[in-house]
Amino acid sequence: MIPQANPKAGYLAHKDEIEEAILRVLDNGRYILGPEVAAFEREFASYLGVRHAVGVASGTDALELALRASSVDSGDLVFTVSHTAVATVAAIELAKATPILVDINPETYTMDPESLEEAVTNASRRIRPSMNRPKAIIPVHLYGQPADMQPIVEIAQRHGLYVIEDCAQAHGADIQGRKVGCWCDIAAFSFYPTKNLGALGDGGMIVTNNDELAERAHLIREYGWRDRYISDIPGKNSRLDEIQAAMLRIKLRYLDSENLKRLRIANLYDQLLEGASVKLPQRRPGFRHVFHQYVIQSERRDGLKEFLRKKEVMTAIHYPLPVHLQPAYKERLLSLVTLERTEEIVKKVLSLPMYPQLEDGQVEVVANHVQNYEKRT
Ligand SMILES: *Cc1c(COP(=O)(O)O)cnc(C)c1O
Repeated sequence: MIPQANPKAGYLAHKDEIEEAILRVLDNGRYILGPEVAAFEREFASYLGVRHAVGVASGTDALELALRASSVDSGDLVFTVSHTAVATVAAIELAKATPILVDINPETYTMDPESLEEAVTNASRRIRPSMNRPKAIIPVHLYGQPADMQPIVEIAQRHGLYVIEDCAQAHGADIQGRKVGCWCDIAAFSFYPTKNLGALGDGGMIVTNNDELAERAHLIREYGWRDRYISDIPGKNSRLDEIQAAMLRIKLRYLDSENLKRLRIANLYDQLLEGASVKLPQRRPGFRHVFHQYVIQSERRDGLKEFLRKKEVMTAIHYPLPVHLQPAYKERLLSLVTLERTEEIVKKVLSLPMYPQLEDGQVEVVANHVQNYEKRT
């Protein structure tokens, strides 16, 4: 069987180092927000080239706290895409704000700046300013492909909005050498086990160059405490633990080489799927794609998925339903633009097996099955 993702292989690849790091924590006796978290925050900030990194309990929390640190509150409008992990939209509501979903560029699967501009303009026209204010934009670097940050930042500046990058799927991706997470006011990462930088449980990180936002994120993650037991502002509990941090410090050292392995696998898929009647992922000059997922489009996606499953090749659909059509959000979210392209592509996308330890021979097996299925009439 070829799995779609394989977090256990990520552990086995660095087994001895990871186990040594965990034993060090067990022996140290500090298990929450201790020296490993502090060291990992420094190392992660320096890897990205940002001033501050604040470890939290998950990627969803990282987004929520980034919003709250930016003073987003009830009544504020936050623009993001509907083609994303539901966590992006859930975090906006956790921060008491109102999500406004915009369409994507169907070639890159990331936020379409024109759709964003239209939504922001419509929001200012149609919504009573006393009730709702456009406040922030969350572009998502989906599948490891950086979103179109230059025009998005330009729109944000013109309308006075914060930009919060959702980097949960794009650790190490960059645009012209500037890493994602460094293009905006404040950004959020997830360390869910299958992400490019994955823990052995939950974890997340907020990064920013802004001292004030970093300070607020710091306070909010632990009850708003500046001094122990005294809350300066209302906060919550969202702490990264020492075992995850110690393990992530090891994994961070291999992030670039493992992203390169993902890129090699993507190149091999591209080559082996040439001529098949499926749409391959797009690359853009100047944009470093880190292939969290290798996503193709097929007109007969469900049949292809089932065919591959019978051949013991596991695939996934990221995501089968856009957020605005899911039961929890349906007919409840405000819509200010059409989401046609989002609704169209969710019927066709399929994520093939992708993880750094996937072997060339396995990529060949997957590609051959895809070719064989797509040739049949
Ligand atoms: C995984 C993910 C999140 C949420 O991260 P968790 O650590 O699972 O809370 C948010 N946004 C995107 C795009 C993700 O892929």
